[in-house]
Amino acid sequence: MEDRKNLKSGEFLVAETNPESIFIPEEFNEEQQMIAQTCRDFLETEVYPQITELEKGNRDLMKTILKKSGELGLMGVSIPEEFGGFGQSFITQMLVAETTGAGYSFSVAFMAHCGIGTLPVLYYGNKDQRERYIPKLASGELLGSYCLTEPGAGSDANSGKTNAKLSDDGKYYILNGQKMWITNAGFADTQVVFAKIDNDRVLSAFIVESNYPGVVIGPDEHKMGIKGSSTAQIYYNDVKVPVENLLGKRGEGFRIALSILHMGRIKLGANVLGAAKKAINDSVKYANERKQFGVLISTFGAIKHKLAEQVIRLFASESAVYRVSRDIEDLINRLKADCGDTGRATIDAISHYAVEAAILKVIGSEMLDFVADEAVQIHGGMGYSAEMDVERNYRDSRINRIFEGTNEINRLLVADTAMKRAMKGDFDLFGNAAGLYENLGNITDNEISDENYFDEKSRYISGFKKVILICIHGALKKFEKSLIHEQEVMNDIAEMMMETYLSESLKLRVQKLESIKGNISVYKDILDVNIYETSHKIRKSAFDAIVSFADEENSAAVLKAADILTKVRGINIKDARRRIAGKLIEDNSYQF
Ligand SMILES: Cc1cc2nc3c(=O)[nH]c(=O)nc-3n(C[C@H](O)[C@H](O)[C@H](O)COP(=O)(O)OP(=O)(O)OC[C@H]3O[C@@H](n4cnc5c(N)ncnc54)[C@H](O)[C@@H]3O)c2cc1C
Repeated sequence: MEDRKNLKSGEFLVAETNPESIFIPEEFNEEQQMIAQTCRDFLETEVYPQITELEKGNRDLMKTILKKSGELGLMGVSIPEEFGGFGQSFITQMLVAETTGAGYSFSVAFMAHCGIGTLPVLYYGNKDQRERYIPKLASGELLGSYCLTEPGAGSDANSGKTNAKLSDDGKYYILNGQKMWITNAGFADTQVVFAKIDNDRVLSAFIVESNYPGVVIGPDEHKMGIKGSSTAQIYYNDVKVPVENLLGKRGEGFRIALSILHMGRIKLGANVLGAAKKAINDSVKYANERKQFGVLISTFGAIKHKLAEQVIRLFASESAVYRVSRDIEDLINRLKADCGDTGRATIDAISHYAVEAAILKVIGSEMLDFVADEAVQIHGGMGYSAEMDVERNYRDSRINRIFEGTNEINRLLVADTAMKRAMKGDFDLFGNAAGLYENLGNITDNEISDENYFDEKSRYISGFKKVILICIHGALKKFEKSLIHEQEVMNDIAEMMMETYLSESLKLRVQKLESIKGNISVYKDILDVNIYETSHKIRKSAFDAIVSFADEENSAAVLKAADILTKVRGINIKDARRRIAGKLIEDNSYQF
């Protein structure tokens, strides 16, 4: 397999990465750490003391807190200095997304404003639109929202019925329709609204000001979680939108919507890390205080298992998040050198990493759900009490699997986008896959001696990748172009891709850590358990896929190959988990 610095999106399936080329969170510089501390302080002083009041649905309070974060400069992190922002690097933006992620409903409102509410104007607006809106959005003087979903158009976002018609005098688009589930609707000053002009097949995008006559905001929805964030329907009744407020070109709206969603997915991947760290901290503190049977519950193996799993899954997700962040940052810098426009370079770079964006969204949201769920369990009955932060975290985490494209849609995107990119010629997926499939007999179960720790892990990960390629080839052979409609098999492939990407990112981080920290034994424990678990997950997904596509005559050979390629040496995962939990329990907070 090839070893290159910046891989193209999805190329990790056929290439190897050098640990030196990835970014790991242990490399944050002083300035980045200070920015993260500012975010944490803001949550401590402005958000947590008000969280109960926010949860009552106090729109004015949320608006006030958002504006304070703007005054502090937090909303300007992604905005270039020429538009009143601080033009921080992409990695720093991700760190801010991570840190504010511990802010419950505030985090959702803040991210919606800074991301989907602001960035379409920054990336696709013309000079006049950027000058009119971006400085005010960067300072929090204006608050933004993003209006794509409609009652009949959710996952199938392009099927919306909201319509725009040019007025007779050619000065306005007359907007009619309805949007649903709009975050920040209750107080946003601006809306990026997607609608079809006349009978167009695809959407266009408009900047709509909430005080335009004919814009009607509904009451807030009663939700399972993120109760402090305003989510409402918006109705457009003959709203006159000045023609100057068409964002991008006519018919470009769907492309804008999708690229902003890629960005939202990547940032969500970072955002959930903050919420998960908060849940882990709450978990270990409680486990270190609560006694049953005369001892602290943190001394029980079953609780240690939970604490360790929380850490392992978070640490792996975090490794993947910052690995992709560096890839994106490098691509932004290369594209910026060509086009000179930071906004365009950023959105193009993010859109390029569509496979990884979908991976981060799915693994991150499911990691947080797991961590938040176990946090409740570690608290026992108290975890079910509405007085506890873990209860709120549990309710709030669930939305992440639904918005920014549901996890079902994103799983399909993981596998489908990688195959499409390969078909376009970005990397040789199909040649490699065919080569493996046609030589299954060459895959043998040889004993390997004298292998160092990381070489062994690399060999396992390379084996996982081979299994994925074999499955892709076999599935395409059987289903051809209709593979996209065999969603169960597509899901199996996506599952394997996601788990492999996670394991590889984790391995690269631990490998790089060796030169930064002297003793990495606990990180090796994390990697050991992850690889062990991943091998079982890959084996299961591969077997599920193979028995769904392979004919009777060759299924035995394909299953045997998958079996060999997912074999890993047994390790004492109980002891490894105990050591991981031991560090967490001793530190009494997440300090990995
Ligand atoms: C709290 C909250 C905040 C939100 N904020 C915003 C916002 O600010 N702006 C905005 O525009 N939208 C927002 N949304 C909307 C959100 O993006 C949509 O709810 C989401 O895209 C899913 O659409 P839907 O609810 O219509 O579900 P549906 O699309 O009806 O999906 C129902 C189920 O079918 C599955 N499904 C659908 N299509 C397929 C397929 N092709 N293959 C397999 N399975 C499929 C889905 O995965 C899901 O499980 C928000 C939603 C919520 C709940």
